[in-house]
Amino acid sequence: MSNPTRRLHGKVALITGAASGIGEEIARLFAANGAFVVVADIDDKLGQQVVASIGIDQASFFHCDVRDEKQVEEMVSYTVEKHGHLDILVSNAGISGSSSTILDLDMSNFDNVMSTNVRGVVATIKHAGRAMVKQNIRGSIICIASTGAQIAVNLSYMSYISSKHAVLGVVRTSCGELGAYGIRVNCVSPHGVATAMSIQGLKLKATEFEEVVCSKASLKGVTLKASHIAEATLFLASEESVYISGQDLVVDGGYTVVKPL
Ligand code: NAD
Repeated sequence: MSNPTRRLHGKVALITGAASGIGEEIARLFAANGAFVVVADIDDKLGQQVVASIGIDQASFFHCDVRDEKQVEEMVSYTVEKHGHLDILVSNAGISGSSSTILDLDMSNFDNVMSTNVRGVVATIKHAGRAMVKQNIRGSIICIASTGAQIAVNLSYMSYISSKHAVLGVVRTSCGELGAYGIRVNCVSPHGVATAMSIQGLKLKATEFEEVVCSKASLKGVTLKASHIAEATLFLASEESVYISGQDLVVDGGYTVVKPL
């Protein structure tokens, strides 16, 4: 974690899927930089633990399943009613789903992944965007996509890769519409980070993750961590990125741009 510089002082940030992994790291870094964070997740126990360790003066928990639009709307209303405004949305909640190829595709797996990774993102942007527009907040919205939004990194995760490609379309379209209100919309695309989702999804042991996934990056000598993704997200949330919108900040050590001979 970088030295806190209070870059988000006075801001209210809503982060979905913040009970663990990348979302948790974003919540901790944002709070360390002065934001009040709303930790939203379906995992109440882990979410409340994150809030307790950040401190209730800087964080609160809200149970929200992003697949349910009503819960998303309530989550945004809760944030605005409790804190007066919403400045930053990080739409991070996502699942890998089970292994899926096009020829053997289980459509319920596809629907479930799309429902969380695309419908959930669309619903959170819709309601957070409405709240920002209503209060004339020049906010920042950041979605956590994936290198799987750039290239078909793993052909056996058809549903996941398709969902992350769709997130780019959602970000670009929303950027076009919400830019008229001064709201920026971007995404961050991580390569592999060892979290519950990636380790279970790829059926790897934590010790194998680095060898199988991280070693594919061009950049050697650094292991990608959730804290690196949090730093990239902080940049897009802060004033330092005031003229950046509609972009995908790929955090992959050069993985997507270099193809070995
Ligand atoms: P994680 O499993 O550690 O965290 C995901 C969190 O989202 C969990 O706390 C989970 O309870 C929550 N969640 C799941 N479904 C939800 C729902 N319907 N509503 C609300 N919350 C829900 O996983 P992670 O690796 O931290 O993933 C975070 C994001 O980063 C995801 O969008 C993922 O696709 C993306 N990502 C991860 C990696 C990686 O290698 N870990 C790489 C690229 C992109």
